[in-house]
Amino acid sequence: MQTGCDMTIESDAIYDENHILQFWCPVCHGSSLKIEEETLHCPLCFACFPVVRSIPILINDSKSVFAVSDYIDRGGYEGVAYGTQTDRQRGVRRLYRRMAQRLSEFAIPTSHVTAEAALAAFCRDRSVRPRVLVLGAGNTRYDEPAEVIYTDVAFSPGIGAIADGHDLPFDDGSFDFVLAVSVLEHVADPPRVVSEIWRVLAPEGRVYAATPFLQPVHMGAYDFTRFTPLGHRRLFRRFSEIDSGMALGPGVVAGWSLRMVLANLFPSRRWRAATSFVCLLLSVPLKLLDFATRRNPASLDGAGGVYFYGTRQEVALPDREIIGLYRGGFS
Ligand SMILES: [Zn+2]
Repeated sequence: MQTGCDMTIESDAIYDENHILQFWCPVCHGSSLKIEEETLHCPLCFACFPVVRSIPILINDSKSVFAVSDYIDRGGYEGVAYGTQTDRQRGVRRLYRRMAQRLSEFAIPTSHVTAEAALAAFCRDRSVRPRVLVLGAGNTRYDEPAEVIYTDVAFSPGIGAIADGHDLPFDDGSFDFVLAVSVLEHVADPPRVVSEIWRVLAPEGRVYAATPFLQPVHMGAYDFTRFTPLGHRRLFRRFSEIDSGMALGPGVVAGWSLRMVLANLFPSRRWRAATSFVCLLLSVPLKLLDFATRRNPASLDGAGGVYFYGTRQEVALPDREIIGLYRGGFS
């Protein structure tokens, strides 16, 4: 396996000095990275990071589930899990996949405090453009007056770096706002990732995270964890809360459950796909019920996902206080 400085590097990247200085060693966290012969390297621990498709691969190879060599040898971690297969289909199959994706993504908004709204309000209140880090960005882009760097473990247009949240390639206090939407379920060690978010945020910096609670496995092997509303709050205990709540309602959960029960009656892949599509149609009225239940705090106990929006603070919230924050149906 190729690692470090021995790798073949495919790059036409041109970086200016200021851009390079944004990146910090994800291995020792002790120095900014320098560029040398189209490789980024750490002058402190001598770790090397290749640049592929003009994107620096800033992964701590010895600790991450993502291998640096895979970005060179296999083109990275793209595929079905990241939705990139949809566009390769043609004709009826492509239409079917797109309709299925639209039906799957349909959900009643359960809160006005979305990632977009939180970031927009934050940027509005600032006289200087805030520095924003997006983790697990996928194809999501924000149209706000801010210096935004998009990171992910898969390539996508406009991505600033391939980075693993367990070892962020940025210096302490580098950002004013960090977004992690549908990310923390995919990391092996969520507390470690939140600790990294805390580290790279400036004092008074803000985080917005939305994470699944009652959701079936998605993205295959790269799906590890779920959080109850209080479990999610505890994860962010070194943040004071601005707002938190339900990101997806129980109607969405009911739709997923219907699909898991009915589609899995069939061992055949084709029948499972057909039944899944029928279930996606049947789940629309179930999802519409979230209109009625979204204001009921008891719905939090059966949410499909939860969000937390908060400000970085030095002191961790004690567990006894976290227990007191419960506001579901058993209150
Ligand atoms: Zn280093």
